[in-house]
Amino acid sequence: MSKEIALMTQGLTKSYGKVRALRGVDLEVQRGEIFGYLGPNGAGKTTTIRCLLDLIRPDGGTVRVLGIDPQADSVPVQARTGYLPGELQLDPNMTTEGALRYFNALRGNKADWGFVRQLAARLDLDLKPAIKNLSHGNKQKAGIVQALMHRPKLLLLDEPTLGLDPLMQQEVLRLLAEAQAWGATVFFSSHILSEVQAAAERVAFIRNGVIVEVAEPASLINRAWRRAHVRFRQPVDMSSLANVPGVTLLSQDDGTSVLLQVEGDMDDLIKALASFPVSDFETERPSLEEIFLAHYKDDQEEE
Ligand code: ATP
Repeated sequence: MSKEIALMTQGLTKSYGKVRALRGVDLEVQRGEIFGYLGPNGAGKTTTIRCLLDLIRPDGGTVRVLGIDPQADSVPVQARTGYLPGELQLDPNMTTEGALRYFNALRGNKADWGFVRQLAARLDLDLKPAIKNLSHGNKQKAGIVQALMHRPKLLLLDEPTLGLDPLMQQEVLRLLAEAQAWGATVFFSSHILSEVQAAAERVAFIRNGVIVEVAEPASLINRAWRRAHVRFRQPVDMSSLANVPGVTLLSQDDGTSVLLQVEGDMDDLIKALASFPVSDFETERPSLEEIFLAHYKDDQEEE
């Protein structure tokens, strides 16, 4: 296997009884990459991450993490990974500092405590209170500090910004970029598209246990359909525009303006419009949000 690949799964399958959580997941994440794993609730994100760390055993398929098969040798994989689980279990009676020191001891006291304090300060996390007195958001921050504190080579983060306010979400995304700068590969799951768009270099969309697309956020936007808003100097019969290849009429009003959706390039549409008295022509690309919703529309319709 190439040294440049940090994470790889091939044909990963996992069922819980009758629930087929993963139905053949293929993923490849390069070393040093920030990779977003997007999907709606129940798509299989957490199950994938647990299989990567061998916290649960897949039913089939291949997994490699930093070149290691975690099923054969999970200890070095877990030692090199900063992991934020969806539901981090911490001893409620420990102080936050005590809990972090406990995690540090498990990892051979490798963390630089100055760095731990810096992380806590940036996340506005007080280390003194007992875990049981922390709000959900502060528990999440403690989990993030715990994952980052030993500057691991790999970060596997299950919904790292869940329950954080927008400013803290931004801070976490900055911390991920800084982790990349120390050489870490970052794999994080989310169902919030905008944060993945802002932070990740590539994104995989998972739906019903299958990867439906892997792409760079920018290329998704460039490639997808656009909307064109055309205004005419006087009312026209625009029905012929619906026959232009790749064009769908979305709405029109009184013959003087029309909103079109255009797949592919604009050439056919522009040629067709040459015979119309066009006064204005504007195009807009879809937001990543719209592309995301288009991926999951079928699921929502099924529901
Ligand atoms: P979320 O965004 O809600 O955390 P997810 O994408 O992480 O979702 P998973 O938690 O991996 O999804 O769940 C995938 C599927 O497997 C879901 O249908 C879920 O109900 C099911 N599942 C997950 N864990 C278990 C379990 N321990 N026992 C039974 N079913 C499970």
